[in-house]
Amino acid sequence: DNFEIFNFNESLQEGLDAMGFTKPTPIQKEAIPEILKGNDLIACAQTGTGKTAAFILPILHKIAEKGDNQFNTMIIAPTRELAIQIDQQIQGLAYFVGVSSIAIYGGGDGLAWEQQKKALEHGTEIVVATPGRLIALLAGGKIKLDTLEHLVLDEADRMLDMGFSDDILKIINYLPKSRQTVLFSATMPPKIRQFSKQIVSDPSEINI
Ligand code: AMP
Repeated sequence: DNFEIFNFNESLQEGLDAMGFTKPTPIQKEAIPEILKGNDLIACAQTGTGKTAAFILPILHKIAEKGDNQFNTMIIAPTRELAIQIDQQIQGLAYFVGVSSIAIYGGGDGLAWEQQKKALEHGTEIVVATPGRLIALLAGGKIKLDTLEHLVLDEADRMLDMGFSDDILKIINYLPKSRQTVLFSATMPPKIRQFSKQIVSDPSEINI
């Protein structure tokens, strides 16, 4: 089995080849078809399983096939390090697709903040953000959200442990209701299930 089974957009397949990804990992095999179908999804998967590409690839495929350059996808991650890592993986896989992404996070200096805002003004299809900084941008009207189609919450359990649940619910209130929502978590205790009920609708579930 290789990635050809998904029939990805040619430019995306080129990105996979350039990154040296030949075979999909188990989480990718299960999650990619679900996300391509447009379903909401709750996936339980640890770091190191290829979970990042599992949500990036089908979203990049959809953006590539659509071929417009509107803001399309918001990815929320608990830490600046993870947001940067996700953004870098998008840049690698999307290299030949012509899709751009920006990492938005707090904790930097004022210059970093100014650069992030400027990058947003130039327009981007994908925003990868930590919750606190994202709320500031949304409250300031810095992101136009009406074209958003995909929301991804990565490491949801960690975000709740860090006390971000109210922030995330606030963010969700800004987003269009008709969207595809994908939630990844390393663990799936009852509190994550409860929380996810407020965010996803009629989700498929995957456990790796
Ligand atoms: P993640 O679980 O998303 O943190 O990914 C772990 C590492 O696996 C990352 O360095 C990815 O670049 C790499 N990776 C993800 N999917 C594949 C794949 N299908 N083949 C080879 N490497 C991969």
